[in-house]
Amino acid sequence: MIYDGHCHVASTDFIPEAFIGDVVAGMSRRLAAASAGPAPQRLHDDYVAHHQDHHADRLVAEMDAAGVARAVLMVPDFSLVMPTKLGLAEMARRHHDIQRRHPGRFWVYLGADPRRGPEGADAFADLLDEYGFDGFKLYPPCGFSPSDRIVYPYYEVCRSRSLPVFVHTGPTAHSLTFTPAEALLIDQAARDFPDVTFVLGHGGVTDVEVTSYLAAYRPNIYLDTGGFAASPLPGGWPAHLNRLFRMGVNHKIIFGTDWPLNQLTGGLPRLLGEILEGDEVLAGVPRRDRDLILGGNLLRVLSPESASVAAPGPPPGTVR
Ligand SMILES: [Zn+2]
Repeated sequence: MIYDGHCHVASTDFIPEAFIGDVVAGMSRRLAAASAGPAPQRLHDDYVAHHQDHHADRLVAEMDAAGVARAVLMVPDFSLVMPTKLGLAEMARRHHDIQRRHPGRFWVYLGADPRRGPEGADAFADLLDEYGFDGFKLYPPCGFSPSDRIVYPYYEVCRSRSLPVFVHTGPTAHSLTFTPAEALLIDQAARDFPDVTFVLGHGGVTDVEVTSYLAAYRPNIYLDTGGFAASPLPGGWPAHLNRLFRMGVNHKIIFGTDWPLNQLTGGLPRLLGEILEGDEVLAGVPRRDRDLILGGNLLRVLSPESASVAAPGPPPGTVR
C-alpha cells in the first residue's frame, strides 16, 4: 500500500489569488532569466487552468494511475494574511464533501491561524470534531513561530484527540516570511508536547542537516518529503531522496509529493514510476524501510496507539 502524506486539492477555491500571483511571479522570473518563458499573464492563466479540480476527481484519477491508495489533503489557513475566497468553516465543509465523494481515499489536516486566539482554537476543535478530520496543518510563514505560546491551545486540541501536527518549514510564496519557517523553531513545542507528533513539512527536502537530527533524536518529530520534485536539489531529486533514505531516519520519513505542485511534470504516475521502477531512489534501501516511508510511518502517526509496534530503539551513536 502506498500513501501520499502531502497533497492539496488543485482548486482556486482553496488557494488565495495572492499566493498564485507569488508562485507565477517566481516561475516567470526564472523563465525570463533564461529568455524561455511565456508572458506572465499566460503563465497565470495556465496555472489557474490547472487548478480547477474542485472535487479532487482528477487527483483520484492520478492516484489510481500511480497506485496510491490514499492521501492526506492539507488545508492551510492563509486568511489572516491574504484575501481568501472561502472562510475556514466553508473550506472544512468542502473537504468533508470531497471525503464523502471519494470514500476511503483521503485524510484531511485542517489549518488554523493561531492568532485567532482561544476562541479560534475552540472553533478549530469544533470543525475537527464535526467532520472527524485527521490532523492540524500549521503554516508559520504566515508570521508566527511554531513554538509561540499562542499556538499551544491548538496543540492542546491535537493532544487531547491524538492528532498529528504538520508544520510547514522552509521557503514558500515570496510575500510571506521565511524566518518562522526554520525547522529548529519546532524544538520547544516538541519538548512541551512530548505526546504530540510533529511532522516537519518539506523537512526531507529543506535544511536536511537540521531536520534529520531532529527526527533522529526527538521521538515525536517526523519528516515529510513534500515538494521534492520541484525543489532545486544538487544532482536531482532521485539522488537527493536516495541520500535521505540512507541517513538512518527511515522510521521517521513520511512520503509526500505536495501534489499538485508537480502536475506539469507528469504528476503522480511519473513520480511513483521513477521511485518504484527507477534504479536510483530506493537503491540500497531495505524493503522494510521502503514500506515504512511509503505508508507505514504515516499510519503510525495517524494511529498513535499502534506506535509501540514499530517504535525504534534509542538513536544510534547518541552523543553525550
Ligand atoms: Zn503543501
